[in-house]
Amino acid sequence: MNRHLTTKLAFNSCEHDYLHEMKKLTPQQLKSDEENLILKRQLQRQKKARKQAESILEEKSYELYQTNQSLQESIAQLDRRVDERTQELRDAKNLSEKNAQDLEKSNKRFELVLEASKAGLWEINCETREVRCSERLANMFHLSLTEATEKLADLSIFAGENGREVKARLNKAMASETTVDLECEIAVGNGPARWFKLNARTHFDTNGKALWLAGAFVDINERIEIALSAQHMATHDNLTNIANRALFNKRMAEAHEASIRSNEIFSIIILDLNAFKEVNDEHGHQAGDQLLRHVANNVLSVVQNTDTVARLGGDEFAIILRDIKTVDYVTAVCQKIIYRCGKKITCNEAQVGICISMGVATYPNDGATTSELIRNADLAMYHAKKNKNSQSAFHIFSHELVADIQQARAMRLAIKEGMKKQEFILHYQPKYNVESNRILGVEALIRWPRADGSYTPPDEFIPHAEEGGLINELSEWIINEGCKQAARWFRQGLEIPVAINLSPLQFAEQNLPNIFYDALRRNNLPGTMIGVEITENCVIDDLYRTTHQLSLLRALGIEVSIDDFGTGYSSLSYLHQLPIQVIKIDRSFIGQVTDNPESATIADAIIKLSHALGATVVAEGVETEEQLVWLKERKCEAAQGYYFSPALPAAKIPTLASVTFQASPKDSRQAG
Ligand code: C2E
Ligand code: CA
Ligand code: CA
Repeated sequence: MNRHLTTKLAFNSCEHDYLHEMKKLTPQQLKSDEENLILKRQLQRQKKARKQAESILEEKSYELYQTNQSLQESIAQLDRRVDERTQELRDAKNLSEKNAQDLEKSNKRFELVLEASKAGLWEINCETREVRCSERLANMFHLSLTEATEKLADLSIFAGENGREVKARLNKAMASETTVDLECEIAVGNGPARWFKLNARTHFDTNGKALWLAGAFVDINERIEIALSAQHMATHDNLTNIANRALFNKRMAEAHEASIRSNEIFSIIILDLNAFKEVNDEHGHQAGDQLLRHVANNVLSVVQNTDTVARLGGDEFAIILRDIKTVDYVTAVCQKIIYRCGKKITCNEAQVGICISMGVATYPNDGATTSELIRNADLAMYHAKKNKNSQSAFHIFSHELVADIQQARAMRLAIKEGMKKQEFILHYQPKYNVESNRILGVEALIRWPRADGSYTPPDEFIPHAEEGGLINELSEWIINEGCKQAARWFRQGLEIPVAINLSPLQFAEQNLPNIFYDALRRNNLPGTMIGVEITENCVIDDLYRTTHQLSLLRALGIEVSIDDFGTGYSSLSYLHQLPIQVIKIDRSFIGQVTDNPESATIADAIIKLSHALGATVVAEGVETEEQLVWLKERKCEAAQGYYFSPALPAAKIPTLASVTFQASPKDSRQAG
């Protein structure tokens, strides 16, 4: 009950008491004034008291009212606060419900992402090394959850080549570093190691102390394998699977750098197959490919793991031999390569073999830069190859070789200049019928006069003309000049056939029958007035092509002789296939027939063989009467040599042709 109410009730009870007292007085009792006065005073006092009581009451009741008012306000405020709070709580509840829903959604999405990313999750306590990892992670490594946990705790899962580096990175991350992004190899089950991508982050407390390292593994083996195979393809030769030129260059640069750093000596070998084109033509490209692989594998079998074997293209290979201790070692490697590569392989039931040429250059003696080394190894290789298609060989670079090459270059320039200035002339050496002692023809021999009246010998410039690609032009001039001279004699009524020496290269590069046909027609000369002398090398390089061209020359009436017989790598098997009329025994045998039984035996055998093949024999380099007698006894038909005559200017031939040869002491052993 409030105070206002209490005051009001107290006042009501006083008034009630006063009226009650008045009602109790009798008229007798009120008779006396005194008594009335007293009563009045009493009444007044009572009225005053009542007023006072009333004003107090009023005052109190106002206070009560005010108190009541503020109470009401407080209650209303409280009610409002309760409402607000209730709303707040309701909002908070709604929000948290929404958050929970969102969280669930995002968790689901996260799980989906994890599922899709195929990542294996893992975290490790940096201090205790306690590990938690996902089921997927364990599955990835073909391990149970316990095994995976254990292997991750001590990081022993990271084995193999880059394992040590990975462990170091992770240990560092668990101390200070905050991110790890790397690719690592991990052994999976019993199979080979697979590649994984590992991304991990370290979580630190506010004091900077590493708490957890958490990360994810993703299997990237397929991607790495594709990348590795793409890289392999970019650096290896498709056919032989050895290094290609790009990788060779890289390895050479590495060897060069290592040598500069540590004074290491390394060698470059350039290896080229001889007459590889012929193998392809004769046995097909499959055989060619098989040979290239055969060479690649055999070279690989000879060198060390630290060396590099590369195919630079076509039939050209290159080898880097690292850390050379002695020259003998390089020599031994080359010999082994020749031995192993020289073994024949079976291809389409045929035995196919190949010869190789190698050139060696060694750092630092043979070149300060890699390109200089390659160039010099190449020079050495060409030197080894020179005219040795049918033989494997190697040559070790020397600085004299450069001098030779410079000399050769100067010679080539001089030959070009000489051709332009028409410095070359032909001399003619008679061939005699040994029975009649009469000239049966002449051999055209080229002469290059020097300023002092002497001649540069053909042996000194013909090989350079061949190597420098000048021989075809020079030979065409010789063919024309020979035909012109034979035609001049023919017009004078002298039938002196002129034999022209041919270079093996001409068979490979020229259409010889056409050239001869044109020369004969231009000079109005019968083909029987011209002969050709070919060496065995012409035949060996391409038997089919040579035979074909010779047959066409024969069809023009041109006589074909085999020159220098017995000195080349002749095979009797092809001899009978060739359209040849004459075999010329090399002068190295004739020079010794009378004092070296071996030479005599060979010369004798050649004469018999030639006759058996239906060919006539010309003995070259006859210098003495005894040699001539020896030849006559063996029915050798013709002879040529200083005993009869050296090569002479054309003008001197008609006189000789008109007489029978008369031996005189003065005639023998003339200089050519
Ligand atoms: P070849 O075809 O065997 O020529 C014979 C060589 O023997 C000639 O040397 C000739 O002068 C020399 N000779 C002749 N009789 C005797 C002798 O009794 N004793 C000695 N010791 N030598 C004798 P030449 O003229 O110096 O020619 C050397 C080689 O150069 C020739 O050998 C031939 O292979 C080549 N050659 C010469 N002229 C030509 C040519 O016009 N074209 C081509 N492609 N090669 C040629
Ligand atoms: Ca000759
Ligand atoms: Ca000869």
